[in-house]
Amino acid sequence: MIPYESLKILNLPFEEKFKSKFADFLDKGWYILGEEVAQFEQEFAAYHQENYVVGVANGLDALILSLQCCKFQKGDEVIVPSNTYIATILAIIQCGLTPVLVEPDSHTYNIDPKLIARAITPKTVAIMVVHLYGQCCEMDPILGLAKQHQLKIIEDCAQAHGAKYKGKLAGTFGDFGAFSFYPTKNLGALGDAGAILCRTESDYHQLRQLRNYGSEKKYHNGVIGYNSRLDELQASFLRIKLPHLDEINAHKRKLAAIYNEHLNASFIKPKLDADFHNVYHIYNILHPKRDQLKQYLQEHQIGTEIHYPVPPQDQVALKDVLQSFDYPISAKIHQQTLSLPCSFAHTAEDIFRVTEVMNKFHLK
Ligand SMILES: *Cc1c(COP(=O)(O)O)cnc(C)c1O
Repeated sequence: MIPYESLKILNLPFEEKFKSKFADFLDKGWYILGEEVAQFEQEFAAYHQENYVVGVANGLDALILSLQCCKFQKGDEVIVPSNTYIATILAIIQCGLTPVLVEPDSHTYNIDPKLIARAITPKTVAIMVVHLYGQCCEMDPILGLAKQHQLKIIEDCAQAHGAKYKGKLAGTFGDFGAFSFYPTKNLGALGDAGAILCRTESDYHQLRQLRNYGSEKKYHNGVIGYNSRLDELQASFLRIKLPHLDEINAHKRKLAAIYNEHLNASFIKPKLDADFHNVYHIYNILHPKRDQLKQYLQEHQIGTEIHYPVPPQDQVALKDVLQSFDYPISAKIHQQTLSLPCSFAHTAEDIFRVTEVMNKFHLK
């Protein structure tokens, strides 16, 4: 069996260090907002050659706190891709703002910069880009539009740790870079965790208040805050894995290269472009008989996933919220996409086996 993913195997190389860290943690007895969170924030900032990182509880909160930091008015519009995980859209709604969905480019699967301009109205205040599946959005035209219309940019980097566009890291383009360290992400904790990269000292202090009841100084509450702290133990585990992020990404890129080279042309593969350093959080292909293909691979002991089976416009939760329900490009991606095994726990041999089986699918 080649499973889609095995978190246990993926974390095996780090287990001894996790255990010794946990022993230190018990010895120390400091559980919330301690040295480990502060150190991780510094190290994650240094990785990005940036100054300000604020650890938070999860990726959804990283998006919500970034939006709250901007102090938008109720009903202001935020542009977001129609092809994304629902968390991005939920963050906008939770902040009392209106999500305006924009279709992806059919080759990159990321928000189509050409369609953003048409979606901008006098109420638009921000563009929330999502670097989906590990590939950055085409940021140059998006940054141009944001400048022209004075819009904030919030990057959903939950799937893009270490991804680059024109040599620059995801999370360093916009006003805020929101990260999730959910266990399956390229940099994954052993539980929930998240962080926000920001550009200014004032946003930094605002975010530090927001995550901790509105207080940076104990018992002095400057804003209406949340409880959304990065857990001290999770921060200590993330500190063990962060130095290996580039190695994890390189491994996933090596596996993806095997797919790119060896899968036959009946599968639509991710578009290759030298401007984009794709870290393949998800390696997906499109195929018109996706469900049959998934079943066929299952019969051959190969696990796959679908990211995602139900597009946002078809989610019951969003039926009274969205302005339109007609997103054919996103709908088609959702119907045809299949995510193949491509994790730190897989070997090149695994991937050759998957390609071999897949290339015989048409014979079925
Ligand atoms: C995982 C993910 C999130 C949410 O992260 P959590 O840590 O689970 O809250 C947000 N956006 C995208 C694109 C994601 O993949």
